[in-house]
Amino acid sequence: MSVVDDIKDKLDISDYIRRHIQLQKAGRNFRGLCPFHTEKTPSFFVFPDNGRWHCFGCGKGGDIFTFAMEVEGVDFHTALEDLAAQAGVILQPLSPAQKQQESEAERLRSIIQEAVHYYHTLLRTAPQACHARAYLKERGMNADCIETFQLGYSLESWDALRTHLLGKGFSVEDLVKSGMLVQRDDQRTYDRFRDRIMIPILDRKGNPIAFGGRVLQPEAQPKYMNSPQSPLFDKSQVLFGYHQANQAIRQEDSAIIVEGYMDVMIPHQAGFKNVVAPMGTALTEAHLKQLQRLTQRFILAMDADSAGIHGTIQGLETAR
Ligand SMILES: [Zn+2]
Repeated sequence: MSVVDDIKDKLDISDYIRRHIQLQKAGRNFRGLCPFHTEKTPSFFVFPDNGRWHCFGCGKGGDIFTFAMEVEGVDFHTALEDLAAQAGVILQPLSPAQKQQESEAERLRSIIQEAVHYYHTLLRTAPQACHARAYLKERGMNADCIETFQLGYSLESWDALRTHLLGKGFSVEDLVKSGMLVQRDDQRTYDRFRDRIMIPILDRKGNPIAFGGRVLQPEAQPKYMNSPQSPLFDKSQVLFGYHQANQAIRQEDSAIIVEGYMDVMIPHQAGFKNVVAPMGTALTEAHLKQLQRLTQRFILAMDADSAGIHGTIQGLETAR
């Protein structure tokens, strides 16, 4: 039996789907409101006998894997890993090199997660973050939005984060790899982000993998600074706001692509939740592929300056 069949065998599709939507019994089958289009009368059916689902409203359908991919907005490999874990099915064992990579990624993820928590607590409570809170308020950002995007604040210090994370047992080497510390030629290290609003960048599953940092002093440069590329973070693959937007993109059947962090967050709090931004101005094919799993309609809303227009044209070229 293949791994896929083994997983299908062990997981009950109606139980799995019921975790995402309410289902009612309809003879041998189940029906509910389709999660992939807006409807008032249920036309979404689950057929436990053959392990499949189908929506007679929008025509989507498939097996437990396609449902997981659609509803979570993930690729097959990620869905396979998730469902295998839930089914208690062991995927083929990793080689020692893969294992090492995997555990490194695991450690780096913990570092970023801890940093998100640290920065967020500072923004909410630290007296030194007073001007950061004032700045966000002035930009019109409310407390809900700060929570939704887990915004934070990095102290004006060369080693506050370093000290905090070393105290949690992480190694300097991993802190450098994660992008949180900068290493100088003489091997000494210091906090990359200082006196900035910290904006966590999440992967598709909602795990934080990097940061964008916005300056608070008008003369400080650069205005926005991102984490460098790391084993977790590949700019060309990640869209800011994707995790918070994917449900809305599917429901609205359109994705609005903007240029910056604020352009994602401010509309989000005003109820326009189908908004994402690439990290920089150019859209890549990987970005579009990710979005095309959710919708075929893109609205490019980038700044009218030259860099913005350039990015838009490049984006359209890629979308064609
Ligand atoms: Zn449907």
